[in-house]
Amino acid sequence: MKIRVLGAGFAGVRAALDLDRLLGGRGAEISVINRDRYHELITEVYRPAAGRDVKVLAVPLEDIFAGTSVEVVQGTVTDIRLRERQVVLDRERVLKFDRLVVALGSEPEYFAIPGLRENSLPLNSLNSAENIRRHIDAMLARAAGQQDPERRRALTTVVIAGAGLTGVELAGELADQRPALARRHGLQPEEIRIIAVEAAPDILPGFDQASIDAATNALVRKGVSLILGSPLQAVEPGAVVLADGNRVEARTIIWSGGVRANRLIEKCFTTRTRGRAVVNSYLQSVDEPSVYVVGDAALAINPRTGQPMPPTAQHAVQQGRLAAYNIWAELKGRPLRGYRARTAGTLATVGTDAGLARIGPVTLFGRFPVIVKDLNTWRYILSLGGPRLLLKVLWRHGRLRWARA
Ligand code: NAD
Repeated sequence: MKIRVLGAGFAGVRAALDLDRLLGGRGAEISVINRDRYHELITEVYRPAAGRDVKVLAVPLEDIFAGTSVEVVQGTVTDIRLRERQVVLDRERVLKFDRLVVALGSEPEYFAIPGLRENSLPLNSLNSAENIRRHIDAMLARAAGQQDPERRRALTTVVIAGAGLTGVELAGELADQRPALARRHGLQPEEIRIIAVEAAPDILPGFDQASIDAATNALVRKGVSLILGSPLQAVEPGAVVLADGNRVEARTIIWSGGVRANRLIEKCFTTRTRGRAVVNSYLQSVDEPSVYVVGDAALAINPRTGQPMPPTAQHAVQQGRLAAYNIWAELKGRPLRGYRARTAGTLATVGTDAGLARIGPVTLFGRFPVIVKDLNTWRYILSLGGPRLLLKVLWRHGRLRWARA
C-alpha cells in the first residue's frame, strides 16, 4: 500500500505524521514529496522580509520525520495522473500511489492586473521574503547616493498592495524596522515611506470593526500611510496605478492582494473559486476518491455555514489530520469522518509590539497577542516532534547566530 503525500506545508506534514502514527510500519509505505528539504513556517515570513531575525522559519524534513517510517522524497510535482494513479516528479520520474494526499498549497493570485506579476514582489515563501529583504536593502543603498529628490523618494518608497492579514503584518513589521534600515543606509527614518494600498474601504475586510480600528490605529501610529478604497489597476516598472487614476512612484512594490491554489490543481482536478479542488465532506477529490485534497489547494466547505474555508494554517493542519484518519479508516473498513471546521481564533501582529487576537466574539489588542503568537509557534514545533525537535531547532538557531557574529 503506497501512500504518497504531496507537499510538506502545514497540511502535508500533519497528514504524513498522522499516517505514520496510524499505519506506519504495518504494510503501508508512506512518503512525503516536497520541492525543498525543509518545512517552511510561512506564517512567519513577513518578519524576515522586513529584515528581522527570527528564531524558527524552516524545519528540515529529516528532523521532523526522524524515527518515523516516512520517506522524504525531494522533487517538484509536475503532473498527477488520476486514472493511472501516478504522480510525475520533475517531468520524468513516475511514482505510483494507492492513496494520495494532495497538499500543494497556494500561490499569489494576480487577477490579470496588467504588469502586476512582472513588476511586483510576492510574499509567500522563505525565498520570496529573502527577495523582498534584499530588494529593499538594494533600493535604500541606491537612495543614499541619489541627489535627485524625486528619484530618491521613489527609491525609499515601499508600496504594499493588499491590506489583508499578510499586508497588515508586513506593513507593521517593516514600519518597526525603519530606524534600523535607515541607520544601515545613512538615511532618515522618515524618508522610508511605507504605503499600504487597499481596494476595500477599510483594511482587513471581513474583520469586525474593533479589529479594523485597532489595526488601523497601530499602522497609522507607526507612520504607515493608508490608501483605502483604491484598487490597484496596473503596475509599471517603478510605479503603481490606482483605479482613480493616481500614480504612486515606488521602487519596491509588494503584492499581498490574495492567493489562489497551486496552478497544478487546476490542471488535474475539478476546481472552483480560485483554482481550488472540489472535495466531498471527507476531503476526497470529487474526481477520484483515493485522492484527498487538503489545505490551501482544497475547496473544503464548512458544513455549518456552507462557506469555503479560508486558506489558513490552522485549517490546513485540521484537514491534513482528517485525510490521514480517513485513509486509515478506509483501510480498516471503518466509517469515514466528515469534515468539521474548528476555528481556534485569529492571531496576527502589527509590528513587534502590537497584535490582535480574535477568539470567538472577543477581540484583544496589544502586546499580549504578540506573545501568544510566538508561543503558538513553539507549540506548533512541539506538535511536530516534541521537545527533541524544539531543542534541535533552538540549538541550530543559536549556532547560526554565533556563526554570523
Ligand atoms: P486576503 O485575500 O485575505 O487579503 C487580500 C487583500 O487584498 C484584501 O484586503 C483585498 O481587498 C485586497 N485586494 C485585492 N485586490 C486588490 C487590488 N487590486 N488593489 C488593492 N487591494 C486589493 O489575502 P492574504 O492577506 O494574503 O491572506 C491569505 C489567507 O491567509 C487568508 O485566509 C488570511 O486569513 C490568511 N492569513 C492569516 C494570517 C494570520 O492568521 N496571522 C496572516 C496572513 C494570512
